Amino acid sequence: MNKPIQAIDTHSVMFITPRPDVIMVEGKGSWLVDNNGKRYLDFLQGWAVNCLGHGNPGMIEALNAQAKKLINPSPAFYNEPMIGLSNLLTTNSCFNKVFFANSGAEANEGAIKLARKWGQLNKSGAFEIITFDHSFHGRTLATMSASGKPNWDTMFAPQVAGFPKADLNDLESVKKLVTDKTVAVMIEPVQGEGGVIPATQEFMRELRKLTKENNILLICDEVQAGCGRTGTLFAYQHYGIKPDIMTLGKGIGGGVPLAALLATDAVACFVPGDQGGTYNGNPLMTAVGISVIEQLLAPGFLDSVKAKGELLKLELLELSAEFGLEGERGEGLLRALMLGNDIGGKLVELARERSPEGLLINSPRPNLLRFMPALNVSDDEILQMCGMLRELLKEVA
Ligand SMILES: *Cc1c(COP(=O)(O)O)cnc(C)c1O
Repeated sequence: MNKPIQAIDTHSVMFITPRPDVIMVEGKGSWLVDNNGKRYLDFLQGWAVNCLGHGNPGMIEALNAQAKKLINPSPAFYNEPMIGLSNLLTTNSCFNKVFFANSGAEANEGAIKLARKWGQLNKSGAFEIITFDHSFHGRTLATMSASGKPNWDTMFAPQVAGFPKADLNDLESVKKLVTDKTVAVMIEPVQGEGGVIPATQEFMRELRKLTKENNILLICDEVQAGCGRTGTLFAYQHYGIKPDIMTLGKGIGGGVPLAALLATDAVACFVPGDQGGTYNGNPLMTAVGISVIEQLLAPGFLDSVKAKGELLKLELLELSAEFGLEGERGEGLLRALMLGNDIGGKLVELARERSPEGLLINSPRPNLLRFMPALNVSDDEILQMCGMLRELLKEVA
């Protein structure tokens, strides 16, 4: 694969987004290598997916061992890793039941269906789910309608009805939308794609109170913020609240396609025929999920995520002071640097193109940069990243 990209024909790959003229060929820890042998310090990690970095030995071993044993008995049967991972997740959370999915969007679809079903059984057919402006819940028709991205509700009209939008951290805006049709509120504890905006302590607690008082379910979409990313196993644990439903994706598979829908006993009301899927709960992916969650739960691991989050925060604040930027925000190892100017896109490109080593970061909004490194990133790699960023800011800011 050491040919330059010009010699590689990519015309059969459907165009959905512009991609740089390189092919990524291998990865180890926090580093990715392209077809020209160039190394990149990876603070994207598959979009907050590779929580244990590239080439994690525990995950590879789990994948290999399970592949040799049993890849797919069909979803009509129990399999060992499916049960093992369900137990691990329920033992370490406030939930009692787990349904596995293959992507975050699919887990959220399941959450929407479960809430609507619960509304049919318990709230005279209430079906509306209040979501938030700038939220992101996935790319299926229903999850696009649930998302608060501008134009996303009309892009593939007609949209799926029943997702009124409130403002994050504004309880009054939620109250205004509550009617007898409301069955749930769905929230990202930290809005990821929206620009790394955490829900405040007070808002989350008040929201839990409001939903309880009105017999409304609280759904936490932890596809991005869950699985150790914020320094606790699940992000809701920061707030001392218990949601009724939670969805996981991204980090739970450490890079393989795995997601989950979790619910309390009181809410898990699916009956045969309501929910399913060909690959759901397959042993190959759930075996990897067990390795990931066990590594996150190893003594000291989550504390080290908190410590690294603090280091990244301090370094970003230093950069902010040095270049007159607008500070930083986030939780654990999901953080953003506020640039004050729309130079995010430019910085992302220059970072990738820098040599001899590139840097991978992203800019979900033009005026900020987002960092979502592996949770086992080293202190030294955090300092290297900030050093690279310092050079780029000298050029651009
Ligand atoms: C990425 C993401 C999703 C969608 O997950 P996919 O696996 O891409 O379908 C949903 N919710 C949040 C909060 C996300 O960050």
